[in-house]
Amino acid sequence: MHTLIMATNNEHKLREVRQILGDRYDIKGLADIGCHEDIPENGSTFEENALQKARYVHEHYGVDCFADDSGLEVDALGGEPGIFTARYAAVNGYGDGHDSSANIRLLLERLQGENNRRARFRTAIALIKDGRERLFEGVVEGNITTELRGTDGFGYDPVFAPLDRDITFAEMGPDEKNRISHRARAVEALVRGLSEE
Ligand code: IMP
Repeated sequence: MHTLIMATNNEHKLREVRQILGDRYDIKGLADIGCHEDIPENGSTFEENALQKARYVHEHYGVDCFADDSGLEVDALGGEPGIFTARYAAVNGYGDGHDSSANIRLLLERLQGENNRRARFRTAIALIKDGRERLFEGVVEGNITTELRGTDGFGYDPVFAPLDRDITFAEMGPDEKNRISHRARAVEALVRGLSEE
């Protein structure tokens, strides 16, 4: 079976992708190729960051691989937090790391009194296979709620309600979220791309 490295150490992401691709590709993570360093990620778009990570792994380890990068874009905030989604509070001077509660607090504060709550999660996946680079994308449109709802999931899930649903990602079970999420859609696009080969 052909091996494909996913440029992540996140077991949750690896499991998700193996569920979809596991019968056709042997999906391995960074730990499996002995990559423990921090991969530079300083692009100005999700696509640039995903490409940067995939190129790093390809150049340093000589393997076929793909990398993903995701975030939240809020229309009333001009597309913020965008590439700063994970560190939104920290880059604005609150706390010093990936703190989801602080991120959500800041987001709700910035949207206080704002009627336009429209937002989307976006995922870019960069694939480098047989020396060729390809990009895939997944998007889920929704609205930012005015208060936290639900306990499932992670990150901004308690304040993101996908369009056509009255509940947040944190109020859905993982199965429902994984059917419609940005990441699932990007992985589906990757799968279509791989099966065209
Ligand atoms: P990553 O590129 O997948 O690590 O995502 C960057 C950041 O976006 C995460 O740290 C989360 O704050 C946020 N994020 C990405 N995907 C989701 C999701 O499915 N639900 C909630 N937050 C997410």
